[in-house]
Amino acid sequence: MTEPADAAQRRAIPPVICYPTDTLPQPDMALYTAARDGADKTGEVLVPPRDARCFHVPAGHFFRISSVEGPQVGDLNLWNAKDLSERFYSGKTRALHGTHLTTGHRMWSSFPTLRPMATVTHDTLGWYGKDAFGGSVHDVIGTRCDPYTGNLLSGTQYHHCCHSNLTRALADETGQSLAQAESQVHDVLNVFMCTGFTRDTGQYFMKASPVRPGDYIEFFAEIDLLGALSACPGGDCSSEHSSDTAACYPLLVETFAPAPAALKGWTPPPPNGYDRSHGR
Ligand SMILES: [Zn+2]
Repeated sequence: MTEPADAAQRRAIPPVICYPTDTLPQPDMALYTAARDGADKTGEVLVPPRDARCFHVPAGHFFRISSVEGPQVGDLNLWNAKDLSERFYSGKTRALHGTHLTTGHRMWSSFPTLRPMATVTHDTLGWYGKDAFGGSVHDVIGTRCDPYTGNLLSGTQYHHCCHSNLTRALADETGQSLAQAESQVHDVLNVFMCTGFTRDTGQYFMKASPVRPGDYIEFFAEIDLLGALSACPGGDCSSEHSSDTAACYPLLVETFAPAPAALKGWTPPPPNGYDRSHGR
């Protein structure tokens, strides 16, 4: 292939940000911090290794995902607890906030609601930033490990991928069949996972998570949430997933309720304001 004469000029055009976020509604972090200060723990769920569990968080409460026992990556799904068709939209969250989430970023919901479902209020791995490989923590670029890709690439039948773990957990929680539950499992927030794209080939890479026991990421629930968290069979994702070879550890989910008056004036975000007439 021969390059056109102006190839260098075309490559030299500076990029523009697709979605400048200066008009994005900003969370009131001071209000959330004050509410969290007086909050009481209301419950906890221990997610076993290579498995998933569901949990509920009412709007205005907090939930924390912690590393316990050893470095472990988690795959997080969120639904509107009252309407499971409203679910976390990883792709649009990436378009708005970038490839990895940290404090102040939000997990946005699917169309037509497109509103914040949860806001990250604390991230003990916030210090990591971006490493020399372009890697960072808590990505919204991976999808979730799943048995279909494993079958495609190596002909395996592996049942403890995050996709299957989340499917079983949602079926157990809702009483739905596996097929019904599977259709509602979606692309995840990869909690504690350290990932990026290789500079030369642009391929998705992972590397050993910097997470250590005691680290956590905490969220404010903007709406009533049903969550599901899978403790990935990849463990710290330093070598492989989709098998039982990696060392895996549990993950802890805790929920917290603020004092009744702490969120005075706050209301859950309304559904997106687009009128849905689509030009008709
Ligand atoms: Zn996984």
